[in-house]
Amino acid sequence: MNGKLINDCFDAAYVALVTHTDEIAQLDQQIGDGDHIYNLIRGLEALRAIRPQIETAEFGEALRLAANKVLSTVGGSSGPLLASLLLGMSRTAPQECTAAGIAKMYAAGVEALQQRGKTGKGSKTMMDVLIPVTERFRELVDRGASVDEILVELPKEAERGMQSTRDMLALKGRASFLGERSRGHIDPGARSSQVIITALCAHIADVREPTEPYHEEVS
Ligand code: ADP
Ligand code: MG
Repeated sequence: MNGKLINDCFDAAYVALVTHTDEIAQLDQQIGDGDHIYNLIRGLEALRAIRPQIETAEFGEALRLAANKVLSTVGGSSGPLLASLLLGMSRTAPQECTAAGIAKMYAAGVEALQQRGKTGKGSKTMMDVLIPVTERFRELVDRGASVDEILVELPKEAERGMQSTRDMLALKGRASFLGERSRGHIDPGARSSQVIITALCAHIADVREPTEPYHEEVS
């Protein structure tokens, strides 16, 4: 696993977010200040600008470079939060690209994000997508699910988490200032996270060749 794969994943996330720009901007206008999607797009464009450095770096180093770039270019709450996610992942980047290794790396990223954002599930944030996906990922790996199954199941979990934010009361971030009026709207960070997870799973399903030992499961 290398920087090229990381660049391709960032590209897949970028294309998916650009496609959903208006919708996510509207969600953030309803319960935030409308900048969330633009913050993310700015960050992903900055990552495109350092493609060559990411491409030639080892997996962990590529994620660390990306974390620093996101920290310096993405504003709002989501910049430092996503930088923490990438940094947490960079520290646990596996040598080999196995489902178990990726699940562990992703869980460490979410853990780092959670430490920074100081909230778990139920506050109507991106955590309502990221945490259930971590839990589901671990559960699937523990029972030896195939990569194909994992790539189908994680987007479903992300969708469930994203939908679950609609009726929640926002307890964190700008949306919490609205109190009860925050109910009835999907959280923009939950939606963007779900869009990214879905795009990444689709991308990996597209490029993966099941015959390569590189992608084989270890259990
Ligand atoms: P801001 O609200 O500062 O303008 P953004 O618009 O970039 O920040 O991001 C808003 C999103 O950030 C929210 O939709 C929510 O999902 C997420 N968020 C806000 N606070 C937290 C937190 N403490 N932990 C996790 N996610 C959070
Ligand atoms: Mg905002």
